[in-house]
Amino acid sequence: MSNPFEAAFQAVPFGVVLLDEHQGILWCNATASVHLDLDPFRDTGQKVTNLLRDPALVAALEAKGTPDDFRITTLRPGQTLLMQVRLYDQGRRLILCHDVTEADRMEVMRRDFVAHVSHEIRTPLTVLAGFVETMQSIALEGPEQDRVLDLMRQQTVRMEKLVQDLLTLANLEGSPRPAIANWLPLLPFLQSAWSDAQHLSEGRHQIEMERPERAGLEVAVEESELSSAIGNLMSNAVRYTPAGGLIRLSTIWRGDGYLEIKVNDTGIGIDRQHLPRITRRFYRVDKSRSRETGGTGLGLAIVKHAIGRHGGELLVESTPGTGSTFTLTIPPARVRDGQSASSAAPGPAVQASDAAVPDPY
Ligand code: ADP
Repeated sequence: MSNPFEAAFQAVPFGVVLLDEHQGILWCNATASVHLDLDPFRDTGQKVTNLLRDPALVAALEAKGTPDDFRITTLRPGQTLLMQVRLYDQGRRLILCHDVTEADRMEVMRRDFVAHVSHEIRTPLTVLAGFVETMQSIALEGPEQDRVLDLMRQQTVRMEKLVQDLLTLANLEGSPRPAIANWLPLLPFLQSAWSDAQHLSEGRHQIEMERPERAGLEVAVEESELSSAIGNLMSNAVRYTPAGGLIRLSTIWRGDGYLEIKVNDTGIGIDRQHLPRITRRFYRVDKSRSRETGGTGLGLAIVKHAIGRHGGELLVESTPGTGSTFTLTIPPARVRDGQSASSAAPGPAVQASDAAVPDPY
């Protein structure tokens, strides 16, 4: 039977290296050998600083008493290790290492997010504060007063929209994936997105909706999430298509059972280089156009999240100056022809029933 202390050190969820009083390696566990690139057999007896030359580690091993914890990023590209050096057994040292790459990345994202939100809220607040000051010092009347009040209202609407989008994102992240239980007809989703887009466009665009080939198509989705996904795509199409452009909402039920919901526009398009980033929170290709048209920079992040939770995807094709096509895919288990239970192809690979079945995604 192996030594129980050694077995216990192998089992701890971080790297452990035992050194002698001359910094020679006595033993290391498997995690340390991976994190620090040490060979537990070949490197035993070697002075650790001959193998790991990171200056912070060297300083910590030379320190008297217990040195502060520190991070090293020099061993492997993209890896951050949290290191601790402790004294044990009269002059011997112990190195502990934890891989904190992911935790650090999350922390950076969290800080960026808070900075972005603060900035987004501060901008309209500054404008509002400016107008309030003006109104306190000058007595505005008639059309000038109306104009200022209207500008103030625009800023409050902007903040409201931002808070609303932030809450939507938080809800998407915090709630369980929608079960395949709630079958809803597809057509009303399309009709309501089409009519909202008409309203937003105020007659500046030609907006078409192609009815699904099968009138009885149903989808197992969380209603508010699919509405919000299609609505955001249609709103973007209106906002990024100059007057006179064409916007088209259509669906294809593919032979493999996937449903595609497509929003196509003849708008300004998106340069290739931006495509991988446009679904990130607050990423905008053209900041001023986004703000002028009431954008929060969160729309596509919401769409991607909402559709991803249903096991689907958001796909984008775009050519600058020509237009864009945004496609939502919904997986076969969430699509059915409500009118014919035993429909032939094109149709779902899985014939889903009304009963709740586990979400395979
Ligand atoms: P926003 O509120 O800024 O519109 P989104 O997350 O909805 O934020 O979109 C991110 C960015 O992607 C937009 O700022 C815009 O630059 C670009 N974009 C989105 N949809 C379209 C579209 N249909 N045509 C051109 N650009 C678009």
